[in-house]
Amino acid sequence: MSPSDDTVICSLFNAKDADIIIRSFDGIHFRVYRRDLEAYSEGFVAPPCGNNSPIETVQLSETSGVLKLLLQFMRKQRQPDIKDIEFELLADLAEAAEKYEVYAAIQLCNIYMRNGVSEHPLQVLSYATKHGYADLANECAIHTIGMDVKQVLRCLPPNVHVSWLQFHLRWQNLPHELLRYKSAIQCRRRADGSSPPCTQWSEFYARVAESFARKGLKALRLQMSSIFLDAENATDLSDCSKCMSLANAWRNHAVSLVNHPKYTTFSEC
Ligand SMILES: [Zn+2]
Repeated sequence: MSPSDDTVICSLFNAKDADIIIRSFDGIHFRVYRRDLEAYSEGFVAPPCGNNSPIETVQLSETSGVLKLLLQFMRKQRQPDIKDIEFELLADLAEAAEKYEVYAAIQLCNIYMRNGVSEHPLQVLSYATKHGYADLANECAIHTIGMDVKQVLRCLPPNVHVSWLQFHLRWQNLPHELLRYKSAIQCRRRADGSSPPCTQWSEFYARVAESFARKGLKALRLQMSSIFLDAENATDLSDCSKCMSLANAWRNHAVSLVNHPKYTTFSEC
């Protein structure tokens, strides 16, 4: 296959003596050298060049925007500046870098994908689980708590659904688990000559339980500590040292549960 007169060739990759043409999904041609593809990529397999054959054209599934960046990682030049590119393009570039094993691009994309965790947790979670970045998957998964389940399942690849749902269910059960933790405990401070029996624990417990019921899972993730502190202040819990000791232990337990178990406990990432 050889380019026709109306072929659009990327101006950055238009070597006259190129020995292979890469055609993007949207039809743009990139005239490049086999030796560069072989030197900078483990995963790109160019078809063999036959004797006296016209220059070979290879059709790829990536867009020209992705290939224009990726191919700049595959020749002797400065790496392209990708810090300000749109996230969708970055995600596609990261995917292509992994697919063709372009190591220089893999590392850089990984850094910028990590920067997208809070704004694009589902896309980064998909990327992290697919390519085995367990720490990144854990970081992303916590940001998906409280999101609409249907939206999450639409965005995540099917092979991740079960592990994410298990993680989600664990979070849904967290309020019940926390309320069971201290439900049987009461402050036993009895009345003595100087003070009445303590009644604050029940009120404190009720306030925490009410916050759990009223606030969503996302609030529990982000505000766990403040839910307890607000309830402590509202019930003047500091008047009773025994109540404060119980509340501190409960709060520390709750805060520790926010990050445990991690998402990868439920996945194979
Ligand atoms: Zn008390």
